[in-house]
Amino acid sequence: MVTDHVSPNVTAARAWSGRRGVWWLTVVLLALPGPVGCALLETERYHEEYVVTNLTVILMDEKSLQRKWKEIARKPPSKRVSISVGPDQTMNVDSTVRGFFDFSTNTIYCPKLNFEVCGHELFHALIGRFHPE
Ligand SMILES: [Zn+2]
Repeated sequence: MVTDHVSPNVTAARAWSGRRGVWWLTVVLLALPGPVGCALLETERYHEEYVVTNLTVILMDEKSLQRKWKEIARKPPSKRVSISVGPDQTMNVDSTVRGFFDFSTNTIYCPKLNFEVCGHELFHALIGRFHPE
């Protein structure tokens, strides 16, 4: 069983909304009085520790990675998907595998120095499935 990483368009949308979220949080914390701000920070603290044994990371160029996906997942590396862009609106985008984690062999396949894709797949190795396929 494998899990894939989403297309550049979807990823960019997520990254943008994530940045806006961080910016918004910063503004709110600065605007709040000290004790309230500290209480919020206190609840957001966490310390989680993961030890991943026998993790293999294979860095591959895009074409080789997509060939590997086809071989392991037995699915095409690209597909057209609908994403929600509003309350009653959807948009069709091309989704192409950019990296994936193979649960059966504990192996990450991702492009060299692509921290976003490799980091995403690392979290599959750490915590398993955290989004729909
Ligand atoms: Zn994923």
